[in-house]
Amino acid sequence: MVLMEKISERERKVLIDLAEVYGDEADCRFMKYIGERTDLEYSQVRRSVRSLARKGYAEFVRGLFNDEGMVAGSGYRATKEGALLVKACIDCKKEVSNMTDGRCMLCWEIRKCEKCGKPYDQHKLVNGYRQEFVFTEVEPVSNTKLEL
Ligand SMILES: [Zn+2]
Ligand SMILES: [Zn+2]
Repeated sequence: MVLMEKISERERKVLIDLAEVYGDEADCRFMKYIGERTDLEYSQVRRSVRSLARKGYAEFVRGLFNDEGMVAGSGYRATKEGALLVKACIDCKKEVSNMTDGRCMLCWEIRKCEKCGKPYDQHKLVNGYRQEFVFTEVEPVSNTKLEL
């Protein structure tokens, strides 16, 4: 059982913003940028990231590069603990969610079909898709008929 340190609403806002890029190649954000995205004052962002870092939910990163490849300053990134606090997988709750349905990659791969309860990989592959809902042996509807 992990003892979770409490965070304020402001810290939560900042952490959600940091967690959005958790695990990405560019996984850090500048404080100024966090401020723009969260509608917080720079001083509020600074207080929040420092507090999050003290609690182990974020870490300071120096020497970040900008789009032109120049060293552009320092920023913060969410730690795994931090990302889990605001973005845990809806199934295992032990990994950070990085799929759009709120699951981690592993849980997404082994997720069960809501219709029949079988894992998706036991479904028939048709036209490149696992048939997750209704599977019929008829000719696939052509794309042109589906266009509005
Ligand atoms: Zn998971
Ligand atoms: Zn199914």
